[in-house]
Amino acid sequence: MAYEGLMVSVSGVRGRVGGALTPEVIAKYAAGFGAWAKQHAGGGKAKIVVGRDSRVSGPMFHPVVLSALQSVGCDVIDVGMAPTPTIQLAVEHHHAAGGLAITASHNPIEWNALKFIAASGLFLDSSEAAAMRAVVDGEIPRASWDELGTIEPDTGAIERHIALVLAIPFLDVDGIRRRGFHVALDCVRGAGGAFMPQLLKQLGCRVSAINLETDGRFPRSPEPIAENLRDLETLVKESHADVGFAVDPDVDRLALISEEGHAIGEDYTLALAAKVVLKNREGPVVTNLSTSRILDDIAHQQQRKVIRAPVGEVNVATRMRAENAPIGGEGNGGVILTELHLGRDAPVGAALILQLLLEESRSLSAIVASYPRYSIVKDKLPRPAAALDTVYSSLKTAFPDAEVDTQDGLRLTWPDRWVHVRPSGTEPIVRVIAEAPSIDEANELVAKCRAPLDALVTKD
Ligand code: MG
Repeated sequence: MAYEGLMVSVSGVRGRVGGALTPEVIAKYAAGFGAWAKQHAGGGKAKIVVGRDSRVSGPMFHPVVLSALQSVGCDVIDVGMAPTPTIQLAVEHHHAAGGLAITASHNPIEWNALKFIAASGLFLDSSEAAAMRAVVDGEIPRASWDELGTIEPDTGAIERHIALVLAIPFLDVDGIRRRGFHVALDCVRGAGGAFMPQLLKQLGCRVSAINLETDGRFPRSPEPIAENLRDLETLVKESHADVGFAVDPDVDRLALISEEGHAIGEDYTLALAAKVVLKNREGPVVTNLSTSRILDDIAHQQQRKVIRAPVGEVNVATRMRAENAPIGGEGNGGVILTELHLGRDAPVGAALILQLLLEESRSLSAIVASYPRYSIVKDKLPRPAAALDTVYSSLKTAFPDAEVDTQDGLRLTWPDRWVHVRPSGTEPIVRVIAEAPSIDEANELVAKCRAPLDALVTKD
């Protein structure tokens, strides 16, 4: 089954509303997922948790997902509008067979998607996704009239999630409350508006906020990268806040603004959160191959290893489980705290950053200034028809002094820099990402690695 413009990956299916992503497509995948989850759970009745972010198309797709799940005999627990990590936690809470999040995460306003959550609360891994897609592409087994699923609302998912964050053992909730931090907040009119102000209030913060409406009418590009956070930078400055927090529409990514009103770069969120966790917990940090080495600097300070997994949240999460890592995540502002759950969680990140500010008794800009600064350059080009093995071997020959990692494309690492050449899993492109002490050095690494790729593309 192929739909023009529909993007199917391990963790979900996404597309543009008005284009490839129709109620029919959503119904097909939701029913297929439900049927797979039921089989996977050993047959019989299965519970599936459903929730959505605030997108304008969410209320259209939501009842479609509920009906599709009922049609395959799944009992639905409907958490309504909620952050993706809240939906993942609800799957665990209810011992459900799986979960569906209706969210296109940080994608622009015209996108939506279904994200598939396994019984563990983690996103599907590649073998689970392959088995689920086989059900979608085959004859989906439907329930008879007397076997249809039920729908039960769950209005307590957000409160439970907030209580879990406040119960993190090394979070000094009383200390944070006494400090009375002033936080500037931008939820981009996503699901964060229904969560972040409540959490911050319970942490005794004074909140100055923009974009708390949960109507999905994003006033800017919703990805929490520095160039999209100018209004929050201004708000921090004008309100004299101690820190600024920006979350993406489904609240699994957190970006920070310093008290000077500068977006410090989303790579710092995980690195600074790790600083707090590693003081209190044993074990390494796990991240993906494209994350900044600022994380290495902070982990090495506490004599810890950084282990790198292929790009993709589920790859990081499963590796964290295998390595007994207390903390991990992605350089895009995705913080995963194992003892809460193995999913990126912006509320957890925000609580850990407030704990850091409390412990350090100095400003965020002073903390950041105490570490080396790096420049990351992200480039992409069309994916050549030929296999990339010859490119990888020529690059290995060209850089004999580099440490080589071939888990996901090719990553070459030196003590103060790295470059990652990686075919995208969702688009017909190759990404080339480099980080070095200066922008010129990062650009030079990208240019050197692009050359053999460009030569292949020219041959196509
Ligand atoms: Mg997201």
